[in-house]
Amino acid sequence: MPNTNIRSVTPHVLMADLAEPFAYSQAWYRRRGAMLVEVTTEDGITGWGEAFGPPELTAPVVAWLAPLVIGQDAMAREAIWQALYNRLRDHGQRGLVVEAISAIDIALWDIAGHALGLPVHRLLGGPLRMEVEAYATGFYRRDRDDHLAYLTEEAAQRRAEGFRILKLKTGWGLQEDIALTKAFRAAIGPDCGLLVDCNHAYDAPAAIAYGRAVADLDIGWFEEPVPPEDIAGYLEVKARQPIPVAGGEAVFARWGFAEMIARRSVDILQPDVAACGGISELKKIADMASAFGMRVNPHVWGTGVTLAASLHLLAVLPDNPPGLFPRPPLLELDRSPHPVRDSLLEVPIEAKAGRVRVPDGPGLGIRVDRAALTRFAA
Ligand code: CA
Repeated sequence: MPNTNIRSVTPHVLMADLAEPFAYSQAWYRRRGAMLVEVTTEDGITGWGEAFGPPELTAPVVAWLAPLVIGQDAMAREAIWQALYNRLRDHGQRGLVVEAISAIDIALWDIAGHALGLPVHRLLGGPLRMEVEAYATGFYRRDRDDHLAYLTEEAAQRRAEGFRILKLKTGWGLQEDIALTKAFRAAIGPDCGLLVDCNHAYDAPAAIAYGRAVADLDIGWFEEPVPPEDIAGYLEVKARQPIPVAGGEAVFARWGFAEMIARRSVDILQPDVAACGGISELKKIADMASAFGMRVNPHVWGTGVTLAASLHLLAVLPDNPPGLFPRPPLLELDRSPHPVRDSLLEVPIEAKAGRVRVPDGPGLGIRVDRAALTRFAA
């Protein structure tokens, strides 16, 4: 067994301009970035992690936490998680702090896998499955007038690539959203899976009106209908419109999800491994959800580091419910532009016919291209 004491913890802030800006309901993206964490051990094992959230804000949190991690045994990831969370519990139960801890935790799982010569999904007790169906995220708003035209063209591309489920972005105003959803469904036809996500652009009455107006369009889930803090609003939306409700990408650690689970505020939980507390914490959240019979479909938005971590978890999430013909969890695959993501891994993780293989190399099963770290360094 190598010496797995931690020698260094290094945040990397990466950034790239987008050729064409795009928007979701809360903001425009003109650049996209990533905050990766590189953890090395005394024996030279390197682990990679990533945080959701603005890279230039999560990196200083990682730098602040680094002295608490250096010198600890990387294999003691549970002990390290608790030490980090407890150190900032009074100040950072949500948001940037938990995102920074997530990145460190993911890197420690990567190290553990390399130290033992095993992929993360085997350390987690899997696999239950080595391949998952992916749905295509994208369909963002561009600074053009012909929204339906470019969205339909994008849908045709994804269908040609083999995706069977697409997720449409809404949140452009209630009437416009209703018209857009109807037109988009008509354009993609009745056989394509359709999910909608407004990134909490509505309050409960608007979300209920939207859900009722598009009730007959066979929508798989309605994501983040209202702001994440509005648990009572979620409950109203769930009760008063027929589309299953999803959410959780802006919820943090087991305590945030405990309230959603106990109050059953959504039908589908969407913890993000790079935000909710890492691989360690997402597994705990998924186990809590399993005890309450709730579906889990992790939120994924980042580079191949987050994608790989999510795939190892997807390899072990229980079928809900189990049986001969289960409905396995889906992978969210972001297909919108992200120059850093596209060149970060030496061997990119890609969908084939809408399905993605779980990496089977040691640790996360990925190799980061150091030339990309230099090229995109901010
Ligand atoms: Ca979302």
